[in-house]
Amino acid sequence: MDESVRQKLDKYIADLFAPEDDLLRRVRAESEAAGLPAISIHADDGRMLQFLLKSIGAQRIIELGTLGGYSGIWLARALPADGRLFTLDMNPDHAAVATRMFEAAGLSERVEIRVGKALDSLKKLSADAPFDAIFIDADKDSYPAYLDWAIDHIRPGGLILAHNAFFGGSIVGAEERDPRLVAGLKTFNQRLASDPRLFGTIIPIGDGIAAAVRL
Ligand code: SAH
Ligand code: MG
Repeated sequence: MDESVRQKLDKYIADLFAPEDDLLRRVRAESEAAGLPAISIHADDGRMLQFLLKSIGAQRIIELGTLGGYSGIWLARALPADGRLFTLDMNPDHAAVATRMFEAAGLSERVEIRVGKALDSLKKLSADAPFDAIFIDADKDSYPAYLDWAIDHIRPGGLILAHNAFFGGSIVGAEERDPRLVAGLKTFNQRLASDPRLFGTIIPIGDGIAAAVRL
């Protein structure tokens, strides 16, 4: 298909299914004002994540990489009122912005931010397993380690989701990025394709959402 038609269709989907409300626009604006990097998921990614979570009736989920709370708001909004999102970030400045944004979104009851290295926080969260889904979007070289944890703590039928599966095209050599990070993502994607405990694929929207069902 013609690339410009493709772009029109992508916009059609985004406008129809993933319009941002004032709150989401505010999160982006306030994150930028606070000096946070503009590396959040996009609205169409958010809608896809919500679709996936709703399709399994997810109630208790984990996010690795909170940043200013943009993706967390999409995730938390896909949960029932008594659902729970644990979102993990090592940067207290990011967590401070996110705390404000979850409050503004009226989601404070549903969302708990844990500040610290994701692997340390995950260890503590092991006691609360199993979870319905995990969304991985923190340091790319640790994706394989996060996958190990996820396989042990996501329920059968639950979802393991990860942002930046394409990593700007670096995954196929179309762009140069830190080789350690690219290697982490390659290992992660490879394991989603071949681990017998998983049924995976990459949803090719935005920078790629790697997705696997825990069998
Ligand atoms: N999911 C967010 C974007 C996350 S950006 C969104 O789409 O809106 C990646 C985040 O991961 C950053 O906030 C960074 O502080 C955090 N991070 C990086 N390495 C980490 C680690 N080892 N443990 C916890 N958080 C980490
Ligand atoms: Mg990301």
